[in-house]
Amino acid sequence: MGISKNWFVEKINKFLEFDESNKMKMVDNSKIFEPDVIIGIVSGNDPIFSDYKKIIGDFYLTPIEAYTWYCETNGIPISTKNLSVVAYILPINRNTKKENYEYSREKPSERWANTRLFGEQANTKIQIHLIKELKSLGIDAMAPTNEKRLFKINPKIWASNWSHRHCCFAAGLGSFGLSDGFINSRGKAMRCGSFIIDYDLPSDAAKRPLDPYEYCSKCGDCIKRCPVNAISFENRHDKITCSKHVMGTIPYIKKNYGINIYGCGLCQVGVSCSNGIPEK
Ligand code: SF4
Ligand code: SF4
Repeated sequence: MGISKNWFVEKINKFLEFDESNKMKMVDNSKIFEPDVIIGIVSGNDPIFSDYKKIIGDFYLTPIEAYTWYCETNGIPISTKNLSVVAYILPINRNTKKENYEYSREKPSERWANTRLFGEQANTKIQIHLIKELKSLGIDAMAPTNEKRLFKINPKIWASNWSHRHCCFAAGLGSFGLSDGFINSRGKAMRCGSFIIDYDLPSDAAKRPLDPYEYCSKCGDCIKRCPVNAISFENRHDKITCSKHVMGTIPYIKKNYGINIYGCGLCQVGVSCSNGIPEK
């Protein structure tokens, strides 16, 4: 059986509709992500991945490098000619966005914190689920962020060797914004994912804008929303200041919501790009 972009849309939306992992169990059992995924595809051989290596750093993995590692680690023949990267956006429940906007000017709301923890677990489960289904069809696939021996985060510069958002950009799903969030037709308040499949699918690279900040209207809403002034027109997003604030929310979240996670996302809600691509 062949697969198409629509195959992924249907599988992920069904997962979001019915899987228990997409439920806000510690709050009200509502859905963490709305079953309204968007998918983008880009060839694993697209030159943008070599560009990322130059821009982000030599540690950044191209799909060919990640997939070669996977083949070598699992003792299977190296196959990189037909690789495609599948990238997707999971829209955060509108009630969660509303709550995080109204809750506080400094701390994340309960639904937002639960989305950060349990939503990311659901996101990982989606990748595992899809890879299993693909393998049952005879198509090999791997998710670099789920490979503990491969995936690395450099906490000094807050950069990892595989980035879902950069895959989303490569796959024509949107552009970055002033706050480094990813602006797309479902809005900047989202979680995203990506994985590599050994299967040639039509690429969406032609939809990719030339300017990586194309869809940011420069409205400045996110600047006003940030409690620690980590966003500015001059320096865009100060990752270090942001991460200090975000990590500092751990005790608050633990005490008030009973879960061990960090979060903020105040710059993703109540701004012009929260629910879609803003008008310029
Ligand atoms: S809130 Fe405005 S300035 Fe900030 S990322 Fe969104 S569109 Fe850009
Ligand atoms: S996540 Fe929070 S601290 Fe970081 S830039 Fe956005 S509003 Fe500021």
